Amino acid sequence: MYRVTLLPGDGVGPELAEATRRVLDATGVKFDWDVQPCGIEVIMAEGKVPARVLESLRKNKLGLKSPMTTPIGKGFRSINVFLRQELGLYACVRPCKVYPGVRTYFSGTKVDLVIVRENTEDLYAGVEFEAGKADTAKLIEFINGIATGKKIGSGIATTGVSIKPMSYEGTRRIANYAFEYANKHGRKSVCSVSKANIMKFTDGLWYAETRAVAKAYGAKFEDASLAEGVSPDSELVGKVADTKGGVEYTERLIDNMCMQLVQKPELYDVICLSNLYGDILSDLCAGLVGGLGVAPGANIGPDCALFEAVHGSAPKYKGQNKVNPTALILSGKLMLEHIGEKAAAEKLDRAVSAVIAEGKDVTYDMKASRTDPTAVGTSQMADAIIAKMQAE
Ligand code: NAD
Repeated sequence: MYRVTLLPGDGVGPELAEATRRVLDATGVKFDWDVQPCGIEVIMAEGKVPARVLESLRKNKLGLKSPMTTPIGKGFRSINVFLRQELGLYACVRPCKVYPGVRTYFSGTKVDLVIVRENTEDLYAGVEFEAGKADTAKLIEFINGIATGKKIGSGIATTGVSIKPMSYEGTRRIANYAFEYANKHGRKSVCSVSKANIMKFTDGLWYAETRAVAKAYGAKFEDASLAEGVSPDSELVGKVADTKGGVEYTERLIDNMCMQLVQKPELYDVICLSNLYGDILSDLCAGLVGGLGVAPGANIGPDCALFEAVHGSAPKYKGQNKVNPTALILSGKLMLEHIGEKAAAEKLDRAVSAVIAEGKDVTYDMKASRTDPTAVGTSQMADAIIAKMQAE
């Protein structure tokens, strides 16, 4: 029996959480669900994420989370970012593969890639200074006053500043995770993505560290010159002796990567990125494989793992039993894999795949026309997936 914290979220979250819970129970794996309401309404009422939510996740070490709303530009900190940072969920893993039957421009292509995104640093650290505030003016004056030769040229009272902290440790940790993942799942390559030609001390650091980790893993460098003078990560050498090696290490700049993914996504496998680039590319990759309705995710830390869809709370569809439960259900599949329930995960994947391939009991977003009257609701699609598993 696995005790799992279930966060039903808000917007369409509760409907998706219920559908997913039923599907996971139907796999035959025994779950004891510790339901913890923590949507926007709860946060508004209590003023913060309730302590009981963090306590439950810390205790159970396993969570399934439906989406939660973050009002834009109201000084409101994202609950999602808060949970990832509080729980040290440093790796965000988002597999993107095309299921036969899904409507996408890439249906005929073998897209099967995995985004590994750093989850705790970068512009998401929440270190921000609002335009017009005294502290912001002080910061700008300090920066303009130090002898770097660099100045923030725009108006002191009219400029906002967001800080982009990126560390050796944080980068090494996520690159290490990406290579571990590639080795464990028999993946062929890890592509490190950055914008080091512009941001030398953050994105430049990123490349230096991902190269060092790649070298420690015995990776084959696509461009051998990138390995010259790189010292393998001393913390990893020795630990990686048992890995198969042979994973290829490649690098792309983020702008070029966007174009490459649209033109030839089948060439890419594991893609390792810092927080903001990872966030943006996750949605792009979700688009490649059929949209947000089918894009699952996992947030992994040393002590806890939280599984959630890439998409948000789609508030306009709240309470309509309309949106696609596949992304959260596939996040549940990632949870099954994480806890070692491989057979159940594969059974669930086959059932999802079969329902999508038939194209009958699927939600509006999977039909040729979004107004197709034969589209089924969230809970009916879950029923169809359950029926497929039971028929096996
Ligand atoms: P969204 O992902 O909620 O929805 C955008 C659109 O995508 C929807 O209007 C809908 O057309 C489509 N869509 C999303 N999920 C779908 C599904 N399961 N099935 C079918 N169609 C689906 O993005 P948004 O509107 O930018 O964000 C809404 C709220 O969600 C915001 O407050 C945002 O901060 C939050 N958000 C939360 C998370 C999270 O909880 N992890 C992630 C992203 C956004």
